[in-house]
Amino acid sequence: MKLLPQEVIRRKRDGHALSAHEVSDFVQGLVTGAWSDAQAAALAMVVLLRGMTPAETVALTHAMTHSGEVLDWSASGLRGPVVDKHSTGGVGDKVSLMLAPIVAACGGVVPMISGRGLGHTGGTLDKLEALPGYQCTPSHETVLGALRAAGCAIVGASRRVAPADRRLYAIRDVTATVESVPLITASILSKKLAAGLQALVMDVKVGNGAFCPTMEQAQALAMSLVTVARGAGLPTRAVITDMNQVLGRTAGNALETREAIDFLTGREREPRLLAVTLALAAHLLELGGLAASLEEGEQRARRALEQGHAAERFARMVAALGGPRDVLTAGGAAMAQARVIVDVDASSAGFIGAMDTRAIGVAVVALGGGRQRAGEAIDPSVGLSDVLAVGTPVQAGQALARVHARNVEEAQAAAQTLRSAIEIHAKAPHVHAPVVRVCASG
Ligand code: URA
Repeated sequence: MKLLPQEVIRRKRDGHALSAHEVSDFVQGLVTGAWSDAQAAALAMVVLLRGMTPAETVALTHAMTHSGEVLDWSASGLRGPVVDKHSTGGVGDKVSLMLAPIVAACGGVVPMISGRGLGHTGGTLDKLEALPGYQCTPSHETVLGALRAAGCAIVGASRRVAPADRRLYAIRDVTATVESVPLITASILSKKLAAGLQALVMDVKVGNGAFCPTMEQAQALAMSLVTVARGAGLPTRAVITDMNQVLGRTAGNALETREAIDFLTGREREPRLLAVTLALAAHLLELGGLAASLEEGEQRARRALEQGHAAERFARMVAALGGPRDVLTAGGAAMAQARVIVDVDASSAGFIGAMDTRAIGVAVVALGGGRQRAGEAIDPSVGLSDVLAVGTPVQAGQALARVHARNVEEAQAAAQTLRSAIEIHAKAPHVHAPVVRVCASG
């Protein structure tokens, strides 16, 4: 039976739970255009304000998963469990660039469908696109070729995967309807379920640079993701990790890709970034049946890094997807470099006491490293490097971070933001552990 969108919106507005039929009509309407942007935005806002029951969230996730193609790798001759990790988004979060090749080096197959920057957070595809030639949306055959050669392929969703999410996401992005647990759950899981995975680890970020600032919100999102994924037959674990400071030493696309290359080759491994990467890799290896315990998973991940196998997988993936063939030795130099580089100096001696991580992410967007309008081109060269971690002792005049900008005015504006976003305290602060807790597993 054909439903009227305004009647579905009205029922939800008045506090009724939607039936699976109503939810599916909405999702179909997103794909066919039978629901207008205004109607979809109105329903998204009612869901954000009223929430959804678990049954509604399951129905929405199911309908969005099946709004397009559902991938099946079983006939592709790939050896190893098909597994993936997904983050809810943060500032300086380049974990995927290292984790995918680590897990591939340990026997997993990782078709990692990633996204672009969203709001103040960076996107994995934007980081990899800083490598000249890297194709983010290659043909299915090219993805298969990369999976065969490297065991991992970090790419964007094809237009045929979860098209309902593609449209709803763009509408939510500009109507202040992103921060809804059921909508985030359905958005992330529809893409992951359509990718034909056998195990998924969710990195749920918590803190002032995350979409969930409080532990209560992060826990609710983690539980929702795990419960709905498990209900759909996908073994999933959620790990809550800290986003009260930039992860690693950089934020900005080419700068983060350079940090990832340095991490893989062993030139520099910032301790918090290493802790988060190893923890998530260990969970994925255990959940995917590639390690008998978390300890074994961590040991295998560490060995893959230290023996250079992960770096080699990364190099093979980049070459298979059109990027530089010598990414480990010359990849850093092949990427764009900013014209203006300035240090942001400490005004007094003390300790890095706290960071307004969201403001730092917004500063990177303002430098041109993220989008202010959908579809806008970004500048891969800009951002921050040499960011000191919370708790680091500093002298007056010491550099807290280095700004990479297109011109002097933008560099000064970002430096000004950083001076107020990075607090210096007289006493050593409490530092949040990088891995906060494993919230739920299934
Ligand atoms: N990432 C997604 O893919 N969807 C959301 O809604 C939020 C983060």
